[in-house]
Amino acid sequence: MTISSFIPPQRTLMGPGPSDVSARVLSALARPTIGHLDPLFVQMMDEVKSLLQYAFQTKNEFTIALSAPGSAGMEACFVNLVSANDTVIVCQNGVFGSRMVENVKRIGANAVVVEGEWGRAVDPTMLTEALAQHPEAKFVAFVHAETSTGALSDAQALCEIAQAHDCLTIVDAVTSLGGVELRVDQWGIDAVYSGSQKCLSCVPGLSPISFSERAVEVIKQRQTPVPSWFLDQSLVMGYWSGEGKRAYHHTAPVNSLYALHESLVMLKNEGIENSWQRHQEQHQQLAKGLAALGLEFVVPENERLPQLNTVYIPEGIDDAKVRSYLLNHYNLEIGAGLGKFAGKAWRIGLMGFGASNENVALCLTALKDALASA
Ligand SMILES: *Cc1c(COP(=O)(O)O)cnc(C)c1O
Repeated sequence: MTISSFIPPQRTLMGPGPSDVSARVLSALARPTIGHLDPLFVQMMDEVKSLLQYAFQTKNEFTIALSAPGSAGMEACFVNLVSANDTVIVCQNGVFGSRMVENVKRIGANAVVVEGEWGRAVDPTMLTEALAQHPEAKFVAFVHAETSTGALSDAQALCEIAQAHDCLTIVDAVTSLGGVELRVDQWGIDAVYSGSQKCLSCVPGLSPISFSERAVEVIKQRQTPVPSWFLDQSLVMGYWSGEGKRAYHHTAPVNSLYALHESLVMLKNEGIENSWQRHQEQHQQLAKGLAALGLEFVVPENERLPQLNTVYIPEGIDDAKVRSYLLNHYNLEIGAGLGKFAGKAWRIGLMGFGASNENVALCLTALKDALASA
C-alpha cells in the first residue's frame, strides 16, 4: 500500500468545535516557520497577549495562550490555584462541569458539587446555599457556556456571589469567548480559560488563559509545587514575558500562534460587541428555521447559547443516519448529543466565522432534506 498526502474534504463545521476556519487564518498558518525565540516571533507573542486581553476584556498582565487544547487550560487553572485539602465549589450542569470535579479530586482537594439540571443555566441560589454551608470554600468554579447542553449561565451573578464569600472564581469560557458577552475584569473573574477552535475560529490546539492579580498571588504563595511541570504557570510566565530575555520552557507551536494572531486580529477588527451581536442574530435566524422544521430546543429561550443550539431528535428519526446524510450529501457536520443527551439531541454550532447567513441557510436546507429522507 502506498500512503500519499492526506487531502481532507471541504466540510462545513457546525458542531461543538472545531468550527470553520477562514481562508485568511489558514493562510496565516502556512507562512514560513521561524524560531520560537526569534525576536520577531517574540514581538508577535506580545501582540497575541494584548489581543487576548481585548478578547477577554481584561487588563490582566498574565494573559497568554497555552500550547495545548482547552482541556489543558482547565487543568492549568486547577493545578496552579488549588492545593490539596482546599475546598472548591463546582457548579455542574453538564459534561464539562463534571470534568472540573474530576480535576479537583485528582489534586486531592475537596469538591463540593452544586448539581444543576442538564440543559439549564446554573441556579445562583443553589450556589449561595452551598457557600453558606461551606464557609471553608476557597474557590467557585463553573462553566459559562456548557457546550454539552447549550446552556448559558449568568457568569456575572455567579462571580458576585463568589466574591461576597471571598472565593476566587475559575471560569470555563471555552465556548463563550468571542460568542457571548464576557467581561473578565468587570465581572471579577480570577482564572479563565478558553479554546482556539470554538468562537475564535482558529485551528484546535491552543488555550487562551488569563489570571487576575489575586490568582497570580495565590500561585506565588503556594506551599507545595504545582503537581504538573508542563502546566506550572510560574515557569510559563518567564516564557511569555520578561522583556526580550525569555527563558526557554517548551517550543511554542509557532504556526498555530500565527493562526491565533490572525483570528484575533479579525475579532479586533470586527469589534467584540459586534461579534456577540452577530452570533445572536444568526442564532435567531437558525432558531426560526429549526422551529419551522418542527425541531424543539432543549434549553429555555432566555438561557440559550447562540453559538450552540441543542435540539431534540424527533421521535422515530435515526440520529446517526441523519448525521451521515448531512456529511455525505452536504459536507456538513453537526454535533451528536453528549453525556445525558447522547442519542437524544443534536448540537448545532454557530461559532465564530461559521456564524454566517450562508451556514444558517445550508444547515436548514440540508436538515430539511435529511429529515425527509430519514
Ligand atoms: C470544547 C470544550 C472544552 C475542551 O476543549 P478541548 O480544546 O476540546 O480540550 C472544555 N470546556 C468546554 C465548555 C468546551 O466546550
